[in-house]
Amino acid sequence: MRDAPILVTGGAGFIGSALVRHLVLERGLPVVTVDALTHAGHIPSLGEAATSPLHAFERADVANAAQVEAVLRRHRPRAIMHLAAESHVDCSINGPAALVHNNVVGTFTLLEQATRYWNASPPERRSAFRFLHVSTDEVFGALDDTGSFSLESPCRPSSPYAASKSASVHFARAWHHTYDLPVIVTNCSNQYGPYQSQGKLVPVAVRKALALEAIPVYESGRQGRDWLHVDDHARGLVAALERGRVGRTYVFGGGAERTNQEVVSAICDAVDALAPAGAPRRSLITHVTDRPGHDSRYAIDPSHTSAELGWSARRSFEEGLRETVAWYVANERWATQVLGEGCDSRRLGPGMHPGVGVGVGVGAAA
Ligand code: NAD
Repeated sequence: MRDAPILVTGGAGFIGSALVRHLVLERGLPVVTVDALTHAGHIPSLGEAATSPLHAFERADVANAAQVEAVLRRHRPRAIMHLAAESHVDCSINGPAALVHNNVVGTFTLLEQATRYWNASPPERRSAFRFLHVSTDEVFGALDDTGSFSLESPCRPSSPYAASKSASVHFARAWHHTYDLPVIVTNCSNQYGPYQSQGKLVPVAVRKALALEAIPVYESGRQGRDWLHVDDHARGLVAALERGRVGRTYVFGGGAERTNQEVVSAICDAVDALAPAGAPRRSLITHVTDRPGHDSRYAIDPSHTSAELGWSARRSFEEGLRETVAWYVANERWATQVLGEGCDSRRLGPGMHPGVGVGVGVGAAA
């Protein structure tokens, strides 16, 4: 059974590519990456996994039933790890239809095709099969100044992105309860690490700090997020797949709650250390009008997940962020390869409709 591949959707994206690299290069497991290569998907992010004999790539849209069916028939996976999504909050405020297609219809279509495939599989394959649905802490909505999300937190989405991710979680759970599909759900906090889409907070801040350009931070930068290194998340997802219980939810966080101002300040300091000409770069931080509906704070309590899966974050935020900044500085070539393929992350002002007018902020969001 272990010869059958794991199918990773969204495997050419930020977290998906970290997961594929981990599975193929560190665990020696066969993987099929399924990705539509939207503005956020890049084959170079797969690194050496892309050319490994253990790896196959399928360019397919998870919202296209015929494409998904053909991929499942061709590769007969033992598990599906579903990460494909439109994940850019600013892009999705400007163009929410992509959320409905990729996150809602995509998850529905994948669940339908996975259920057909699973029902038609022989008994030993059926019992081993898992559908791991990857979600975000954004589905839980905003926290006040205290407290944290746990596996019991209900979905209270505030952004169109979080609403689409909540819909997909509800579909995944419903497919387990109604059709018995062996589903596991995970929710994770903000992530950082190499190969992140160029419109997100960490790569934007590094790029602008290097170029000595203004670094936009929403409002006063007071929004708090819990940060986890993407490689720690990849290990957590594999732990959930291998040791998680069907029907359960697991939540991953790094225990590193920082405000956006603190994160960008730390990035400025790390860039200063690598390129002293231009220091201090904290002076480049420019506060811009807040994103509409911006949630003030997210934090995760992963204690239950850690106890059940034997998982914990290995990298401290400070060490991981310094390594990440050094990676972006050393890999400007990767950044230029993927730049220019982005979506429109210029933010609309409150009450404005896509196509009517454009606000001033850029995507200083994780
Ligand atoms: P990403 O935007 O970097 O990558 C998404 C990938 O999905 C891209 O490669 C894209 O081409 C692909 N994709 C999009 N729509 C598709 C479709 N219809 N069919 C096939 N492929 C499609 O996103 P990410 O940051 O790697 O996030 C991956 C998953 O993890 C998402 O489901 C996201 O909601 C979730 N998540 C992200 C974070 C974070 O901090 N980035 C935190 C928690 C959860």
